[in-house]
Amino acid sequence: MRTTIFKNFFFLSAAAILVTTLLISVVMYKGFYRDMRVEVEQEAKYIGAAVDLNGASYLQTIEDIRGDRVTLIASDGTVVFDNRQKPSLMENHLDRPEVAAALTQGSSEGVRMSETLGQQTFYHAIKLADGSILRVANTTSNVYTVAAINLVYVALICLVMLILIWLLAKGQTEAIVAPINRLDLENPLSNQVYDEFSPLLRKLEQQNRLIQETYNTLKRERDEFQSITQNMNEGLIVLNGQGEMLLVNKRAGAIFGKAATGHYLTLNRSAEFREVAEKALQGTPAESQLSQGGRIYHLLAAPSAAGQGSDGQPEGAVVLALDVTEKEETDHLRREFSGNVSHELKTPLTSILGYAEIMKAGIVPQADMPDFAAKIYSEAKRMIALVEDILKLSKLDEGLGEEAHGPVDLQEVCKGVMNRLEAAAEAAQVSLEFDGTEGSQPVYVMGSLPMLDELVFNLCENAIKYNKRPGQVKVTLTAEPVCLTVADTGIGIAREHQERVFERFYRVDKSHSKMTGGTGLGLSIVKHVVKRHGAALELESQQGKGTTIRVCF
Ligand code: ADP
Repeated sequence: MRTTIFKNFFFLSAAAILVTTLLISVVMYKGFYRDMRVEVEQEAKYIGAAVDLNGASYLQTIEDIRGDRVTLIASDGTVVFDNRQKPSLMENHLDRPEVAAALTQGSSEGVRMSETLGQQTFYHAIKLADGSILRVANTTSNVYTVAAINLVYVALICLVMLILIWLLAKGQTEAIVAPINRLDLENPLSNQVYDEFSPLLRKLEQQNRLIQETYNTLKRERDEFQSITQNMNEGLIVLNGQGEMLLVNKRAGAIFGKAATGHYLTLNRSAEFREVAEKALQGTPAESQLSQGGRIYHLLAAPSAAGQGSDGQPEGAVVLALDVTEKEETDHLRREFSGNVSHELKTPLTSILGYAEIMKAGIVPQADMPDFAAKIYSEAKRMIALVEDILKLSKLDEGLGEEAHGPVDLQEVCKGVMNRLEAAAEAAQVSLEFDGTEGSQPVYVMGSLPMLDELVFNLCENAIKYNKRPGQVKVTLTAEPVCLTVADTGIGIAREHQERVFERFYRVDKSHSKMTGGTGLGLSIVKHVVKRHGAALELESQQGKGTTIRVCF
C-alpha cells in the first residue's frame, strides 16, 4: 500500500510538472515568435523611413551590424543591397511572395524557406517612397535558440521540483500510512483515524464480536463434547475416512492401553475390532464382542453421520466399546442358575414320583405306608424350602423387599432369631450364646428388616447345622463399629471351598447338606443381603475347628 500511494503521489505530481513545463515552453515559444515578428516589422519601418530620408547609401552604415537580415530590392526585382550576401550574386527577387505582395499592397509578411540562407525565415517587406522594396528577415531558428536557452533553466527547475516532489511524496505517504499501521484491530472503535475509516472500523468491531461469540460457542460446545466423551463409561473412537484416529477418549485409551494416534490398527489388531471398523468405514453398521484384558466388550461401529465423500463412502466411523463383563457374567450365572434350579427341583420330584408310583401300584405293605408318606412329606418340604429360597433370591435380584427400608435394630433381630432356633440348637446338642451390647442397647442400621432377619437366621442356622455334637455357637454384636459375628465350633470349611460357599447351590458336602435340609442357597442369600446393605463380609474357617463369619455395616 505504501508503495502504491508513493508511486501515485509521485507520478501524478511529476506528470503535472512535466505537462506544465511543456505548456509553458509552448507559450514561451509563441511569445518569442510574436516578439520577433513585431521586432522585424518595427525594424523594417525604421530602416524604411531612414532610407526614404537618406537614400540607399544609409544602408551601408548598418552593413556590419549583426542582427536581422536587411535587403533592398529595386521595383524591377534587382537586389540593390543585402547585409548578408553580395547583391551581384543574388537573383531577381520579384518572384518572392513577400516582395510581390508588398509591391501591390505596400507591405507584406510571410514565412518560408530562404533560398539564400537555406533556413526557415520570417520576412517583412515594405514599399518605399521610390517604389523599391525594403525587406527585413529573421530566421525562426533564432526563436528556437532563445527558447532552448530558456528551456535549460526550465528543465533545471523541473528537476529540482521532481526531487522536492519525491521527498514530499515520501513524507506524505508515511504520514498517511502511519495512522493505519498504528490501528488497534483488537479494539477498532478506540482508534482516532480518518473519518472515511469509520464504517470499516465499525464493521471490523462487529466482525470481532461475531468471531468472539462464535469462538465462545464453539469452545463451549467443544468443552461439553470433551467432558461428555472423556468422562463417559464407554470407550469411544472416532475415525476419519482413511481409518486414522481423530478421537480416542480416556476410557478407550484405558481399554486398549495404546497410543491414540495413527491408524486404528495400531490400537487393536484383533479380528473383531478390525471387522467392525472396516464395515463401518465402508458404510455398514456392525457389532461384535471383544475380549480384552480379562473383560468383555461389546463393540458397536457406525459410519460417521457427518456426511459422505464424493465417492459415496462415509467420511469416517465411530466405534463404541461397552463393557459388558458384568452383564455377560450375570447372564451366564442366570443360565447356570436356571439349570441348577431345574436339577434341584427334579431330584425331590423324582423321589416323590417314585414313592407315589409304588404306593399307587399297591405293592407297599400297610405297615410301611407311614414311612413312605414321611419320605414324600420330607421331599416335598425340601422342595418348598428350595422354592422359598429361590423366591427370596429372585426378590433380592430384582431389588424387591427394599420398600421396607428403614432403621432396623440388630439387637432385636438377633434375639428373635436365637429364640426361633433354640429348639433346633437343643436338638443338635449345640449351645447358643448371644453377646449383645451393654444393657441391650439397640443397634440400628438402615435396611430391610426381613432381609436382615434372613441374614442372621441363615448364619446362625448354618452354625448349628454344620456343628459337632456337642458344639457351641456364639453370636456377638458390637455397636461401634456395627459388626455381627457368628462363630461356631463346628466342622469348618476347607480353604479351597471357602470362596465358593457363597455361590448359589454350592455345598461342601452334598449329602450332609441334604440331610440337614439345606438348599445350597443360604449363604448366597447372605452375600446378597450384605451387598444390598453396603456391608462387608468376612469368613474365617479351619477345618475341624470351626467357622467365624463377620458382617460389618
Ligand atoms: P446349605 O443350604 O447347604 O446350608 P448354604 O449356602 O447355607 O447352603 O451353605 C453352603 C455350604 O457351605 C454348605 O453346604 C456347607 O457345606 C458350608 N457351610 C455353610 N456354613 C457353614 C458353617 N458354619 N460351617 C461349616 N460349613 C458351612
